[in-house]
Amino acid sequence: MSAYDALMAFQRETEALGQIAGRLGWDQETVMPRGAAEQRGEEMAAIEGVLHSRRTDPRIADWLETAEAPDDEAAAQLRLIRRSHARATKVPAALAQRLARVTSTAQMIWADARAADKVADFLPTLAEVIALKREEAAALAQGGDLYDALMDDYEPGATAAVIGGMFDRMRPRLVRLREAVLAAAAPPALHHHFGEPAQLRFARDLASRFGYDFTRGRLDLAVHPFSSGSGNDARITTRVVETDPFNCFYSTIHEVGHACYELGIDQDYLLTPLGNGVSMGVHESQSRIYENQLGRSPAFAGWMYRQMLDRFGDFGVASPEAFARIVNRVQPGYIRTEADEVHYNLHVMMRFDLERALIRGDLQVTDLEAAWNDRFAADFGVAVDRPAHGLLQDVHWSAGLFGYFPTYTLGNVYAGCLHQALRGDIPDLDDHLARGDTSAATGWLREKVQRHGGRYEPRDVIARACGFEPNEAPLLDYLDAKFGALYGL
Ligand code: ZN
Repeated sequence: MSAYDALMAFQRETEALGQIAGRLGWDQETVMPRGAAEQRGEEMAAIEGVLHSRRTDPRIADWLETAEAPDDEAAAQLRLIRRSHARATKVPAALAQRLARVTSTAQMIWADARAADKVADFLPTLAEVIALKREEAAALAQGGDLYDALMDDYEPGATAAVIGGMFDRMRPRLVRLREAVLAAAAPPALHHHFGEPAQLRFARDLASRFGYDFTRGRLDLAVHPFSSGSGNDARITTRVVETDPFNCFYSTIHEVGHACYELGIDQDYLLTPLGNGVSMGVHESQSRIYENQLGRSPAFAGWMYRQMLDRFGDFGVASPEAFARIVNRVQPGYIRTEADEVHYNLHVMMRFDLERALIRGDLQVTDLEAAWNDRFAADFGVAVDRPAHGLLQDVHWSAGLFGYFPTYTLGNVYAGCLHQALRGDIPDLDDHLARGDTSAATGWLREKVQRHGGRYEPRDVIARACGFEPNEAPLLDYLDAKFGALYGL
């Protein structure tokens, strides 16, 4: 057997074990009995241990040294294996274990601190997490930028300098749009009860309409919606709020975007490094374009409006135009995950600047709350009323996920680019969407982006799909045009 074949056989088993670990996580968030929590912790730790030793297996270095790629795809496989092996071996095992232990405790301390609204309860643990992440970043960066080294886990090739420059160009236009929209008349609130069974039936129909294959996936309930799995098993979850059906419908469509990316990858890449979405930013571009540019388009909203009248009866909204404004409601709020398209990126940019300063050592955790609150007031025009609505709102920092936040906005920027190219290729897209038919759009995304999996670098797959280098202008133009029309600006 050639070194390449031996390496790929070994890798395939590692990928399969990784899928099993992911399925344990899915089970934990959906159907696991409460009493199994402690045992599950041990099960997860055991499989993570197996995965870690496989990722650092010394034979990988030997195989990589002699492996010859028979073609371009094989070269791409080797590139990804080389990167993941280098990452796994640069961080000392003792540090990786300490990080796993500290972040697992930190997440519990963070949840308690958030429930009690006490920043002081969380800060000492956060300081510990940051110190360990800085150590990890130094091991990975080997003299380079610490934050870039952490971001590389989520968005290979991205640098804070490039992203920071882009965010600085975006912020003034977003703040201007926010002010103009908030000065215009707000859409009315919904006062109606939308039963759970009917919501879930419609959510399943929406998932199918966006191309989700229920023979290779399933929809369950979870506290926080997520998607999980790859290859021929990509599952999604949603949640139901009976006074706010859009919570369920749009989080379903969002997760369908993530799952369709995984399900849409070329079957030849199954259980190989190329058989996964290439980055968090590209992943988020799929979920966001499904959710926003397609699902919240006035054309698709018109179809949804008539469906909802059939399914829920008169729910107090007079016209498809009023309905489109309601699903695109812009309102000030503290919480990133609940933010509309206009506010969302402002939240992300703020996290990015603060966490970069923390990792670089320019900001100490003792000054973090003041820095957060000052920045929030400046960007959002309102003061944070309590820590649970401020720096305690997101799980990421307690989990050690530094460098993750910018991928959310990068995903929106990519979605903006893809949307512009998609509209160019399918000029009558709105006619399709108005019939509730997304197949032209989702087929285009599968062909241009999803099937490639990890084959090309993140920016390259977007550039190849769009025919231009990804940049922020299409997203900003789309937001100005859409909200300008909806709010009569
Ligand atoms: Zn997402």
